[in-house]
Amino acid sequence: MGRKQLNNTCCFCGREMPQMFSGIGGVLICSECVEAGHKLVLSAPKQSVQGDLSVDNLPSPQEIKDFLDQYVIGQDSAKRFLSVAVYNHYKRVLQEVTNDDVEIEKSNILLVGSTGTGKTLLARTVAKMLKVPFAITDATSLTEAGYVGEDVESLLVRLLQDANYDVNKAQRGIVFIDEIDKIARKSENMSITRDVSGEGVQQGLLKMLEGSIINVPPKGGRKHPDQETIAVDTKNILFICGGAFDGIERKIAQRMNTQVIGFEAQQQAEQVDKDNLLQYIAPQDLKSYGLIPEIIGRLPVLTYLQPLSRAALRSILTDPKNALTKQYQKLMAMDNVTLTFDDEALDYIVDKALEYNLGARGLRGLMETVMTDLMFELPSHKQTGKQQSFTVTKEYAEQKLGKADLVRLKNAV
Ligand code: ADP
Repeated sequence: MGRKQLNNTCCFCGREMPQMFSGIGGVLICSECVEAGHKLVLSAPKQSVQGDLSVDNLPSPQEIKDFLDQYVIGQDSAKRFLSVAVYNHYKRVLQEVTNDDVEIEKSNILLVGSTGTGKTLLARTVAKMLKVPFAITDATSLTEAGYVGEDVESLLVRLLQDANYDVNKAQRGIVFIDEIDKIARKSENMSITRDVSGEGVQQGLLKMLEGSIINVPPKGGRKHPDQETIAVDTKNILFICGGAFDGIERKIAQRMNTQVIGFEAQQQAEQVDKDNLLQYIAPQDLKSYGLIPEIIGRLPVLTYLQPLSRAALRSILTDPKNALTKQYQKLMAMDNVTLTFDDEALDYIVDKALEYNLGARGLRGLMETVMTDLMFELPSHKQTGKQQSFTVTKEYAEQKLGKADLVRLKNAV
């Protein structure tokens, strides 16, 4: 290798070069071709890691959870269920086709928890980690074909758009369907009178969740006979559904009470954590709530999210990788301003979020109210190259939030 030979012609570019590398059978390659090949090799694997998930770069459940921990506070149980389900799903998608009869079934997921506890954030973060196309849809906007509203196929349009119309990529994406509880049947015995907004949509979703080929109008809108459509196979699309299921605790309690019979059961009942019944959620409760059994069957991974505690809300302000305080610090740093937040100021903001029941979603509005005047004024005082600093104190936050209409903020959440 690397022998110096004269009057040799490169077998790749055909030029005569002084420096040649020789291979088996007298094949010669010049140093320039070696370098060009090297560059090509360096760029190729990067593309495949970014664009395509493979068995080799599929992160383990622990790695997925570690990634989620960087962005989502708490919700340990949901993170564990989600990590395992996502890992199994992509293992199934990426597996070589084997000839045995064991077919791994799809593990679509249902996340139950009050609004603003991180359901969408979890789904979005998983998609971000795996670099797969992602689309969010609100189940309430979907209607049975033929009624006013969006057809169920519309959620695949968004996925296609996120995949830049690369159908193969879209077919491995993740779809988050929010507010799935809102399409529940109003009562368990309502099947005689067809209920347009609820059961009809559930039926429409069924086909998609289990995996079938759906003809999607690429630009969205209603399908009509001579419209061009793209066939999308949903077999390998992971569906994550979310819902608050307000009042489901009552169904859980009812079920647990009726199950509890006898002495041993009484002991069990005493150990029940009555303040957090959601942790005992089971498929039967979803049925009592009005989801049709077929839908429940296609969402085999069922987990819950807890209401966010004061400590969790406080931590959301500072700890996630893209925490709100970090975002404002970054914005201000671009104007040469070093921004700091006093702990008391952040505690005060959390107090307000709790007082007005704004939840995690409201934290952003509160921070924005505190920061707006500052972000308006400070850049005007910018002096070239000169570093300024500003500390958001509790007094400052009080002054800004005192003036604000927090009730209006609540309505916006
Ligand atoms: P949900 O889908 O449960 O209604 P989201 O995931 O949309 O709630 O949460 C709304 C916002 O609140 C998120 O964008 C995020 O900023 C914040 N948030 C909610 N829960 C968490 C959490 N557990 N950790 C970090 N941020 C959170």
